[in-house]
Amino acid sequence: MAYFCSGKTNNELIAKLKATGIISNDKVADAMRTVDRAKYCTIHPYHDSPQPIGFNATISAPHMHAIALEVLLPNLKPGAKVLDVGCGSGYLTSCFASLVFLAFIHFQVYPNGKVIGIDHIPELVQLCQYNVNSDHPEYINEGVVHFYEADGREGYANEAPYDVIHVGASSRTAPVALLEQLAVNGLMVIPITHTFTLIHKNEQGKLEEKPLMSVRYVGLTSRDEQIQ
Ligand code: SAH
Repeated sequence: MAYFCSGKTNNELIAKLKATGIISNDKVADAMRTVDRAKYCTIHPYHDSPQPIGFNATISAPHMHAIALEVLLPNLKPGAKVLDVGCGSGYLTSCFASLVFLAFIHFQVYPNGKVIGIDHIPELVQLCQYNVNSDHPEYINEGVVHFYEADGREGYANEAPYDVIHVGASSRTAPVALLEQLAVNGLMVIPITHTFTLIHKNEQGKLEEKPLMSVRYVGLTSRDEQIQ
């Protein structure tokens, strides 16, 4: 189903993701409309498939970005804190930023949230910075989006806890550091041995895991292993 969602434009791609029911929430559609995939992916940007971005990494397929946004949406509110592990192209980091950015709702002003994108390949960290800056410089200028070179298996403790953690690379288990950095009532998605898994930390701090679907992702690994 997903590959049929390809479009000739960003809007057409999103319209198809909506028509097939992959996107069911207008906020997700709006976020993906605000962020132009062509600024993050030069080859077939509106194809519903992963594309190479160098260093044995890929920008995930649009339907996977949409599914991640749909399941994390309950916590993607203005003011929320988000960690994007293995940010790669920076596309999803930007979508998160558009959802947690300063909002005026019913004449009330909500504060900016913060989105931290980390990747262990320095060139990809630079690529993220460049891509977001060319699509939405305000996300960087307003201090909403920050990119760092870091090992995603350790998370990014300086800014923890996070309302949302997205892991864009597959792991055999959910790294302990990431589970610790997840806030109470936080939501995390992570491909665990190719099963896209949603983890919720409940009020008592207990973790509830829900397998969602089978996926193929780049591994959450060491830098040497990735670029060998
Ligand atoms: N969400 C990104 C996915 C990129 S592919 C996008 O759609 O653009 C997965 C990314 O995880 C790659 O950029 C890779 O460099 C990164 N990665 C893999 N292992 C990592 C680790 N241990 N720490 C940080 N990043 C890692």
